[in-house]
Order: sequence, then structure tokens, then C-alpha cells
Amino acid sequence: MTSGAPYENEPVYQNAVKQLKEAAALLGLPDDVVEVLRHPERVLQVKIPVRLDNGKIAVFIGWRSQHNSALGPYKGGIRYHPNVTIGEVVTLSMWMTWKNALAGIPYGGGKGGIKVDPKKLSPRELEELSRKYFAAIADIVGEDIDIPAPDVYTNPQIMAWFFDEYSKIKRYPAWGVVTAKPPIIGGLRPREVSTGYGTALVAREAAKLALGGFEGKTVAIQGFGNCGRYAALYSVKWGAKVVAVSDSKGGIYDPNGLDVEKLFEVKDKTGSVINYPGAKRITNEELLELDVDILMPAALENVITEKNAPNIKAKIISECANGPTTPEADHILHQKGVIVIPDILANAGGVMMSWIEWSHNRMGCWLTDEEALDRLDKKMTHNFHEVYNEWQKKYSDHPMRAAAYAIAVDRVVRAMKLRGWI
Ligand code: NAD
Repeated sequence: MTSGAPYENEPVYQNAVKQLKEAAALLGLPDDVVEVLRHPERVLQVKIPVRLDNGKIAVFIGWRSQHNSALGPYKGGIRYHPNVTIGEVVTLSMWMTWKNALAGIPYGGGKGGIKVDPKKLSPRELEELSRKYFAAIADIVGEDIDIPAPDVYTNPQIMAWFFDEYSKIKRYPAWGVVTAKPPIIGGLRPREVSTGYGTALVAREAAKLALGGFEGKTVAIQGFGNCGRYAALYSVKWGAKVVAVSDSKGGIYDPNGLDVEKLFEVKDKTGSVINYPGAKRITNEELLELDVDILMPAALENVITEKNAPNIKAKIISECANGPTTPEADHILHQKGVIVIPDILANAGGVMMSWIEWSHNRMGCWLTDEEALDRLDKKMTHNFHEVYNEWQKKYSDHPMRAAAYAIAVDRVVRAMKLRGWI
């Protein structure tokens, strides 16, 4: 029976419900509990009228979805994208509930979005849009209520405007209301590297268990944005060999290894990694099927499907992107013995660093870069082994994702039971 909620029929939401039901089946959860878990606690839709530089007013629609607060205040980013829908925002907020529960940090799940192409706005228009959106949701966010952060096409400057707008409304500097702020106003410098750092870290730990070590192992990375570039940097720092990378213009491959610092330079100067000299040009599809030890999809969703999964040669896949592997492909890879470290574990470094930032904002003290990265390293290493061991012990007939979901959903359900919600 459908509830009539406006996100109900969107495919992205239906996929998330399918994943939830799989975890519920493993845990033996009854249908009524699944029904409680599949809906967000609250979704606010707001109208954002922006005075454009040409004098006309453009109206944008934004949302904030607060999926579940059993484990703490809602936490999750805000996305600016022309294709954002209410269903996407609700789905992402549900995934944040599981990611934060699995991370073992005291947060529930939330997510926001505005349907806008920010590349078409001037800096002044973007600032007006951002301030008005945050003012419109100010009543439902707060340091102890709901703590946003960046997502696709939002950045530390936008977080600074959010922080300032909220602080003006409340009439005090509300450091902890958003994370991934610029370091001068309460952010942590390692936030920028933290997601890619975590993706490389869990690959490193899996390689120690399954491949006899990380050093000298070959790595291919799809996407060279915030996540991909730092996953590459730390893979090399920890002794692996990055042999292929790509971006939206295509990929490059050199079996002898790529110079990652040179790749940063080429990407920043020319806009694409394909201008790196001396490597073989490959397509994004070819990159996924290369004969490498470790693959890190760090760009888009649904790139590993039932079509290409049989051809994948990597032994470990560490998912930096959200949702890069379809459920069908996940099962094919599991049958082939490939370890797929699921997104809610492999890309949690960003939200963990946000939690470190938030907790120190609340205490009024600032960490050094080394202290912050050291905490992230210890917590993610612990979390990887916790999920891996539980997978091996209880769920080894299923992909590793099933174990991650089961642990996360179980934690949320136990908190809801203790609080008397179910
Ligand atoms: P980004 O915009 O910085 O980089 C995206 C990269 O993907 C770019 O290099 C772009 O050229 C490339 N790309 C775009 N279209 C492509 C295509 N068709 N084929 C191959 N490459 C393509 O984004 P990001 O922050 O690095 O995020 C990447 C993924 O990681 C997204 O799925 C995002 O949701 C997820 N993620 C990001 C964070 C974070 O902290 N940044 C945290 C968790 C998850």
C-alpha cells in the first residue's frame, strides 16, 4: 500500500527501500518496523526567490529531509544540482542514517538540496540563494538539532554563508551548526582530504587481509575530484601504485604507475587528467575492467552493473562514490570472490571528520591537522575491522554490504526500541 508521500514513486527511493528490506530480512525485523524506518521524520520544502543581476526574480525550490534522529541530531550535506528531487533528498537522508549509525558517531540522518544549476549563477546570486535557503530552514536546524555540510556543488564558502546567516538570526556565533567550514571560522583543514583518505584506508586494511599487504598493489580510480584525488594521494603514500585515473573527459593508464603530484598539477592547470603526458588514453568503461588489484569508483552512481561486473578483474573495490554498484552487480562480484567495501563504510571519512570538527566546535577548542587525521585513521581502521569481522562471522553468504547494512539498521532499531518509539 502506498502512503501518498511525494517521494514514494521515485526509483532512487524505491532502491533504498529495497536495500532496507534486505537488511530487515537478515535481522528478522517485522514489516511495521520497516514501515516506520522507510519514511523520513520530517521533510521541509521551501521557496527561495532570488533577485538576479538582471533585475528579475528567479524562484528556486529547496528541501531538507530529516530521516531519523534515534541516535542523535540529523546530519548530512546540502546538494545544489539541476536534477535534485524530493525523492533524491529523502533517499540521501536515509543513507545518511545508515552511514552515521555504522560510523558509530552520535548522529541521525539528514540531507538537503536545491534544484538549481549553480554554475549559471553569479557569486552574488549564489550567496543570496544560500543565505535565503538557510534562513528558510533555520527553524529546523541547529547545533543539537540538524547539522548540514557540503555535498555536490556546495563548498566551504557556502558553509561560511550558512554559518553567518544562522548566527545573525540567533544572535550568537553558532560554530556547530554546519561543518566543513573554512578553517579560520572553525573548520578543520583535513576535512578536504578526509573522504578520499578513508576510501584509501579501508582498501589498505582489506588488502592486508586479502592480498597479503597494500604495498606495491595496483590501483585504478574513476573520478579525480575531491574524493578521487585524495584517494590516489594516500594510496601512493601507503605504498600502492596508482596505474589509472579518469575524469569526465576520459582516462589514462600506465602500468608502471602515475605520478600523483603531477596529476594534481595537470588536472588543476588543464581541467583534465587526460593531458598527463606519456600515459595510454583509455575510456572510463575500460578503466573499470583493467587488470588491477584494487578499484575505487569515485565519480558516479550505477557504473558497475550486471553487464560489466563479470569482466571486472580487481580483487577489492572500495566505493568512494555513493551507489556506484547496482545490487545485481554486487551479487555477481560476491560470487566471483571480489570484496566490495560498501559506500556507507568506504566514504564515511568525510562525515567522521565533520563529527570531529563539530565536537571540537562545541568544546571551543581547535585540533591540529595531525591530531584530527590521527583520530580519523584510528576510528576508520576500527570500523573497517568491526564490519569485516561481523561479515565473516554472520553474513559471509552475502556481499559485505549486507553486513554493513545489518549493523547500521540494527543500531538504529535498538535505539528506537530503547526510546520507546517501536
Ligand atoms: P567532485 O565533483 O569533486 O568530483 C567528481 C569527479 O567525477 C570529477 O573528477 C569529474 O570529472 C568526474 N566525473 C564526472 N562525470 C564523470 C563520468 N561520466 N565518468 C567519469 N568521471 C566523471 O565530487 P566528489 O566530492 O569527489 O564526489 C564524488 C562521489 O563521491 C559522489 O558520488 C559523492 O556523492 C561521493 N561522496 C563525496 C564525499 C565528499 O566528502 N566529497 C563524501 C561521500 C561521498
